[in-house]
Amino acid sequence: MDKNAKFIIEMLNNHGFEAYAVGGAVRDMIMDRMSDDWDITTSALPHETKTVFSDYPVLETGVKHGTVGVVIDRTVYEVTTYRTEQGYADSRHPDSVTFVRDIESDLARRDFTVNAIAYSDENGFVDLYGGMEDIKSKRIKTVGNPFERFSEDALRILRALRFASVLGFEIEENTANAAFQLAHTLKKVSPERIYVELKKLLLGINAQNVIDKYKDVLSAVIKINGNPELVSQMPDEIAMRLTCLCGEYVTEALGFLKADNYVKHICSLLINSSRIPEDRTEIKKYISKLGRVDALSVVTYRRSRYGEDKNGVAEQILMSYECLFVQDLEIKGNDLLELGFKGKSIGLLLDKLLLSVIEGKIENKKESLLAAVKNIDNRQ
Ligand code: ATP
Ligand code: MG
Repeated sequence: MDKNAKFIIEMLNNHGFEAYAVGGAVRDMIMDRMSDDWDITTSALPHETKTVFSDYPVLETGVKHGTVGVVIDRTVYEVTTYRTEQGYADSRHPDSVTFVRDIESDLARRDFTVNAIAYSDENGFVDLYGGMEDIKSKRIKTVGNPFERFSEDALRILRALRFASVLGFEIEENTANAAFQLAHTLKKVSPERIYVELKKLLLGINAQNVIDKYKDVLSAVIKINGNPELVSQMPDEIAMRLTCLCGEYVTEALGFLKADNYVKHICSLLINSSRIPEDRTEIKKYISKLGRVDALSVVTYRRSRYGEDKNGVAEQILMSYECLFVQDLEIKGNDLLELGFKGKSIGLLLDKLLLSVIEGKIENKKESLLAAVKNIDNRQ
């Protein structure tokens, strides 16, 4: 167990409060996976937690919902008061939360059995819903009736898919049925939250299986217009996987999901890319036009999605030191300045020289390039 999480639990215990690690970190600990996100659940009320940790910096943004962020070693540990939730008029946010003094009610509000196990060194595991058993059987199952739990909070439907993908689990039958039947309620969930879960889902080790089985659920949040069956063959980059899943529709999806500009840039690059040529010189021109970084994305993507560049020439050229860009030329703008060229003509000349080098008409050596410049110069 993480030493700071252990310390927080002990501090709370010493002040007469119960405290446990809970959620993802406990699940991951049982699965022998590392976790750097330790959540603590406690009988202490927020103001009591603040008093116990008065010597530490605390973040109070979540206090209304019972969460105090205790900062130790520059890491935020979320310490949340045992609570229950009431009323989910919008299928997403509880209308109110109530602090309680027993861990049983706190575990009952959690989404899946595998996420509802609490642990402390002193008391061992508190596993009221068979979470341990479900981890062993690799099963995602809601705590309680899946229809009720998904009706309270539709995001849980997508979380079920996300955990199945990331952990390599299967979704239990009733939970899966409820996910299909209530998929349409995902419309009420904010795009930002959908995107967070979708990203994790698409990059999970079991992503392909989840996409194949739950395509109808995913269709409720995103238009699937590409090659869903190829997603896991893509490199594990969100832009590539999303573009593969959505096809041309990806641009619209990214707008709706409020994706960041970097992902938008890569996706539009991929969507607007053209076939990788087969001829070596043409490949070099293709890469030269895109720039090395973008070309790497495009080539990697098109190889995985369309099987282009079968013999790996584009890939090999990208990894080589061949002259592909103006910066690679053995002649610089300054050399041309010294020869009396000015302003725009320098850029144009360098472009011409680059093309000749790429086409193999001139060697990328200073003398050859200078000689070529003089020829061009004489002709002008
Ligand atoms: P990760 O490893 O991705 O952090 P996690 O299980 O810790 O997974 P979080 O989103 O960090 O997931 O949530 C922490 C815990 O809070 C969950 O394990 C679960 O017990 C509870 N939880 C989170 N979101 C919900 C929800 N929408 N409904 C019910 N319980 C939730
Ligand atoms: Mg977590």
